[in-house]
Amino acid sequence: MSLLLTGIAELTTNDPERRDGHTDPGDALLGIVRDAALVVSAAGEVEWVGPAAKAPAADDRRDLGGRAVIPGFVDSHTHLVFAGDRSAEFAARMTGTPYDGGGIAVSVAATRAASDDDLRALVASRVAEMRAQGTTTVEIKSGYGLTLDDELRSLRVARELTPHTTFLGAHVVPGEYATRRAAYVDLVTGPMLDAVVADGPTALAESIDVFCEPHSAHAFDGDEARTVLEAGRAAGLSLRVHGNQLGHGPGVRLACELGARSVDHCTFLDDADVEALAAARGTTVATLLPGVEFSTRSPYPDARALIDAGVDVALASDCNPGTCYSSSIPFAIALAVREMGMTPAEALHAATAVSARSLGLDRRVAPGQPAELAVIDAPSHLHLAYRAGVPIVRALDV
Ligand SMILES: [Zn+2]
Repeated sequence: MSLLLTGIAELTTNDPERRDGHTDPGDALLGIVRDAALVVSAAGEVEWVGPAAKAPAADDRRDLGGRAVIPGFVDSHTHLVFAGDRSAEFAARMTGTPYDGGGIAVSVAATRAASDDDLRALVASRVAEMRAQGTTTVEIKSGYGLTLDDELRSLRVARELTPHTTFLGAHVVPGEYATRRAAYVDLVTGPMLDAVVADGPTALAESIDVFCEPHSAHAFDGDEARTVLEAGRAAGLSLRVHGNQLGHGPGVRLACELGARSVDHCTFLDDADVEALAAARGTTVATLLPGVEFSTRSPYPDARALIDAGVDVALASDCNPGTCYSSSIPFAIALAVREMGMTPAEALHAATAVSARSLGLDRRVAPGQPAELAVIDAPSHLHLAYRAGVPIVRALDV
């Protein structure tokens, strides 16, 4: 049965072909259609988009009552595969204990101890929580196993819920390797990576990622990160990088040099980093994760400067048990608008079109695209940031 959706006060298409005719730059960026309708095919694809007055007939019809419809959020950076509770660490941080990456070991111990069924249930509940807030596509990283078997298990659990899985064996150096860092990098780039791609380059993981952060004793320096990324690339994985989160460092430039799809955090950037990102436009996206700065009480990245320099800027949640246990993209959008100088349109575009691009996806609402949509209980996307903290957006089941 095909379905005609009407009563759409404002439809965000992200379609460049719908940019013309707008006087407002935000409306142009989002390819807004007002008083819109769309038809979804029986196969779940968008079949027709346009003004309601010109809508064709369909088998069924649903009136959305003057709400806004947007592309479903694409959360391109999450660490959902973990067990355990680190709320006490958050409370300690709020009273002055700084974050240095060391708490990850707590999640590693709890994750290793969890049963397969418990881990699967935890991840599934987090994905459902996201969908209830408008996220229809999610990337999930491993990285709380840090043994060959536990990393494979994490990726298998994640793969049951999304094709966008990322091997993050190089999250931190686990405690048992603290005095043998080189041996751990050898394990990640050797037996672990071999096992990840044993059934084909993307059978279990789409990408490889590394926490490149010389300011953390637990993470990896530029040379170690290069070794990890080059091995992953040679094995057929696309590249993602955690870079420049805690201070200035080599992560951003390394990601751009190696053609990574995304470099994430980008909190501490110098002019050369911004130039490298601008030159890498079309290849490497800068994914900002403002929930982390919120949850660690840190300075926010300068999104305005990045956008003005021509950098592709995405937004994601970084949902993880240590530095941001928020799965909410609307929250990230509100922070981006309030704290990072992004317009509401730029923030929505960053959390849909640009984050999708960093996963090799197209997130336009256009004929032939999957009907991955979300609906807002309000007449426009402006309400996402305007009504911060209010649950007004959810994935649209069609
Ligand atoms: Zn992360």
